[in-house]
Amino acid sequence: SLTSKILLAMVAGIALGLLMQLLGSLFPDNPISTFYGVWLAEGLFNMGGQIFVNSLKLLVVPLVFVSLVCGTSSLGENSRMGAIAFRTVGLYVMTTCIAITLALFFANIVNPGDGLALELPGADAFSAKESPPLIDVVVGMFPSNPFAAMVEGNMLQVIVFAILFGVAVSQAGDFGNRVSATFNNFNEVIMKMVNILMNFAPYGVFCLLAKLFFTLDVGALGSLFWYIATLVFVLLFQATFVYGGLVKFVAGLSPLMFFKKMRPALSMGFSTASSNATMPVTMEVAEEKIGIHNSVASFTIPLGATINMDGTAIMQGVATVFIAQIYGIDIGLLGYLTVILTATLASIGTAGVPGVGLITLSMVLQQAGLPVEGVAIILGVDRLLDMIRTAINVSGDAAVSTVVAVKENKLDRELFNRAS
Ligand code: ASP
Repeated sequence: SLTSKILLAMVAGIALGLLMQLLGSLFPDNPISTFYGVWLAEGLFNMGGQIFVNSLKLLVVPLVFVSLVCGTSSLGENSRMGAIAFRTVGLYVMTTCIAITLALFFANIVNPGDGLALELPGADAFSAKESPPLIDVVVGMFPSNPFAAMVEGNMLQVIVFAILFGVAVSQAGDFGNRVSATFNNFNEVIMKMVNILMNFAPYGVFCLLAKLFFTLDVGALGSLFWYIATLVFVLLFQATFVYGGLVKFVAGLSPLMFFKKMRPALSMGFSTASSNATMPVTMEVAEEKIGIHNSVASFTIPLGATINMDGTAIMQGVATVFIAQIYGIDIGLLGYLTVILTATLASIGTAGVPGVGLITLSMVLQQAGLPVEGVAIILGVDRLLDMIRTAINVSGDAAVSTVVAVKENKLDRELFNRAS
């Protein structure tokens, strides 16, 4: 099946990337090493990977717009949109708060930075990014020009416009029905495009991972072992207990089945390190494998890809404790509360693209009164961790969507339980 092919491609890509790296370091001056490095990793694989990610991203704006118009208009005149939105946002914020609290809790037990003798970076190693004022974030959600929003790929603005449009379609009588039929046709076509592109996923994933593991700084992994181990442990804990718990106890479904169905989206999140680029796949999995009705998935999944990043929040929690310990600074209870608040807001206010969590970490550190240049310490290992936390971000979106769908009676249980 396609899922097994993707998994196989992941393993093969990682193995080949590491092998090329090993050969390059064993025989640095050998022309064959240059061939691996320059022609294969930086050339062919880099190109293949980028083309694949671009093709996924290409689908994001049309998919969100068309699918959300279909979804909102199908909810009919006495729309449940308000209730769905309220529940979704509530659950997204709640899971993020739990995530960051778990991160702070476990990091304080493991103490990953205690007694670590690292060379500390200079004060100009990393500069903080200013966080935008809250008013600007809220006002910025409302588009003045829907086409500009689409061109810029501003997801929140596209979502707001699509909902308004969809509600109007459902209230415009026969005219609306005709528009709705057209949008439904478009939706089918765009979902077909996702299917077509997914056939290339094994090749894309292989290229992305071979290139990445070829350039990965394996040496840096060792010195930051406890930081990495704590972070990965909390990420897995969040997936197993928080998402697994939500799916089992709130939605009444099998968590094992849930994660099994999520495999294509998880591997895509891992390979691309971008929730946004993975969104078309998450949407396909949510609707066609988990059985979430389009009226819920078309809203919850794109919104989640934009505002819900529990994996990122966990990284920020563990990194803050780690950096505080390395510098020997005690940030106190108030400091931790500041971290929870800032990390939650930061995960809401940033888009799901590679590496963004590291940039917003600088805001968190600054708010907590820690040296921002501490970011430079974890910079070298962040790409690998970014991949893992993106897979968690994506699972969080799907878990919340599943719960909302069950509560709204919009989940096809028969499809959920069907083996795929
Ligand atoms: N890469 C992550 C995502 O797209 C965000 C981050 O943590 O950097 O979800």
